[in-house]
Amino acid sequence: MEQIKLILKDIPNLHKIEVYEANGGYSALRKALGMKPDEVTEEVKKSGLRGRGGAAFPTGMKWSFMPKDSRPKYLIVNADEGEPGTFKDRAIIEKNPHQLIEGALIAAYAIGAQTIYVYIRGEYVKWMRILQTAIDEAYERGYIGENILGSGFNVDIYIHRGAGAYICGEESALMESIEGKRGYPRVKPPFPAQYGLWGYPTTINNVETLANVPVIIEKGGEWYSKIGAPKHPGTILFGVSGHVNKPGIYELPTGVLLTDLIYKYAGGVRDNKKIKAVIPGGSSTPALRGDQIEGVTMDFDGLRNAGSMIGTGGVVVMDEDTDMVKVLWRIAKFYWHESCGQCTPCREGTGWMFKILDRIVKGEGRPEDLDLLVSVANNIEGNTICALGDAAAWPIKFGVQRFREDFERYIKFKSTVLVEK
Ligand code: SF4
Repeated sequence: MEQIKLILKDIPNLHKIEVYEANGGYSALRKALGMKPDEVTEEVKKSGLRGRGGAAFPTGMKWSFMPKDSRPKYLIVNADEGEPGTFKDRAIIEKNPHQLIEGALIAAYAIGAQTIYVYIRGEYVKWMRILQTAIDEAYERGYIGENILGSGFNVDIYIHRGAGAYICGEESALMESIEGKRGYPRVKPPFPAQYGLWGYPTTINNVETLANVPVIIEKGGEWYSKIGAPKHPGTILFGVSGHVNKPGIYELPTGVLLTDLIYKYAGGVRDNKKIKAVIPGGSSTPALRGDQIEGVTMDFDGLRNAGSMIGTGGVVVMDEDTDMVKVLWRIAKFYWHESCGQCTPCREGTGWMFKILDRIVKGEGRPEDLDLLVSVANNIEGNTICALGDAAAWPIKFGVQRFREDFERYIKFKSTVLVEK
């Protein structure tokens, strides 16, 4: 499958507005402002674009949920990139910030928002500065502010920095955080399009999702819909990390084979070792065993059929020497730490899963611990306010099922190291 670069283009200094404009930048905004807002939404619907933040929800449909009344409305750009294994949004901000800004402006026009907030991960200081410089440039050229390009459309953009909580990437916790409150996810419904930021209709889109929008408006939804997997079209910025020879970000059409991504683009596994496991879309997506990855395509259906999820496209490759019990121990520790504590199954369950894994890793595991881990995970899944509970449960539940022999060796030999391969 050929590489198509819709976002991470090979153009030097594309982060500068004059370079972006010289390469057709902001012409999609001009075009969109000449259309009716509903026509813009229809074009995005036609493109088949799905959210790139993890859930893969159809973007045009999300926009169409926004009411058409005269209340203030908000667009939030979710740049709180905190999913372990994921580092693509910061690449967009660094290499092509104006395409993100242009996409956000088009989205705001389509949904009738007068204010855009970019909620950026607190640690991303460098990227926050790059983005602010780009926003300032766009204000100076009249792309942001009042009466944009003489259209009568007004919108302002503000950057809001997070303070280090993973849960603030969850859209309702994110809104609570912008409102100056503790980042507790809200019970849904009501959904953000009805009751969002400060109680007003709000749409939240991921950075990569919005960066696709100018391309869709420029070339048309139908053109975009023909790229990659028909039910999940476009490109994805796959961030490949772990035991590969060439870790990095590879923008490729959806539907690319996972094995091509690893061997053709990311240079294969270091020292030619076999693959033990692959996390396909960030730490919330269950790891696949090395013998499960053949023929798996990197799109929503391809990964669902394989027993995982596309998530954020953050691919973590682990070679045959990897200790999967310790990997899952680390993941469990992360979710326990990041649980906001608001609902009991997640607050207690993540802690229980970590404690069970901790005693297994220390050589104090009991044979019944494996079924107990799966039982705790099952009792978290579907019983929590937000998706963090599921995100914490799935990797452990499927991890115990798929790497059971590793766990059993730990328990049998009461060892802190894997023995008898
Ligand atoms: Fe908080 Fe976890 Fe409940 Fe989400 S699932 S609201 S993170 S306790």
